[in-house]
Amino acid sequence: MKFSILTLFPEFFDSLNDYSIIGRAIKEEKIKIESVNIRDFSENKHGQVDDYSYGGGPGMVMQPGPIYRAIKSVKQENSKVIYLSPQGKVLTQEKLNELSRLEHIVLLNGHYEGIDNRIVENYVDEELSLGDFVLTGGEIASMTLIDGVTRLLPGVLSSKESYESESHYNGLLEYPQYTRPQNFNDFEVPEVLLSGNHKKIQQYRVYQSIKVTLEKRPDLINRSKLSDLELKYLKDILAEGR
Ligand code: SAM
Repeated sequence: MKFSILTLFPEFFDSLNDYSIIGRAIKEEKIKIESVNIRDFSENKHGQVDDYSYGGGPGMVMQPGPIYRAIKSVKQENSKVIYLSPQGKVLTQEKLNELSRLEHIVLLNGHYEGIDNRIVENYVDEELSLGDFVLTGGEIASMTLIDGVTRLLPGVLSSKESYESESHYNGLLEYPQYTRPQNFNDFEVPEVLLSGNHKKIQQYRVYQSIKVTLEKRPDLINRSKLSDLELKYLKDILAEGR
């Protein structure tokens, strides 16, 4: 999997090389990251890449020319060009799973007031947003996408289960986790987790997953396809609450 990042701040991504699992994935060549400075594609002797907005209004807009040339310099037949934008669909685990099957992702990062709309309409395959708020640039959103996609790639995490039981993978939140010490400030680890009974532990985790999702993100329950056991636990929990 290759990520080509089109940005005015390529140095922003240098830290990925030294960053935990992502840094390791780069070293082991499971992913390749190429940062491209959009300014290098300016034809202005001062390296200008922005200009005033037609029709007036505050701030500057990134010009289409440098962005077009930057896209052209990296795009191949198998590339998907994604513009990180507050106007895009909000990034989800499902979308990350879909992206993890691609070979080449081009991440276009806007700045200032954003980019000339002719690029969005004609040279971008998809707009994706980090959430319903506005950032100063797309770089943090790009980094988030790279992190979320990379950990799904084969061999990046130590085992498949590492992400398949995690929050959002199957539409629910993950069950609560505990580690040593068994007693922390008089707060105990739930006894069932110390029982060694794997079936009971599994059932407890399914139950807790439903419970925390209902408590923290009830909207997810309606969207999830629950198994028979999950459905039973949901009914039990709702009945207990009455
Ligand atoms: N004027 C634009 C608007 O109101 O839709 C916002 C421009 S924003 C200040 C500058 C750049 O930050 C955008 O071009 C985009 O690349 C990035 N950006 C801002 N918010 C974002 C978000 N929620 N998700 C992803 N990228 C975002």
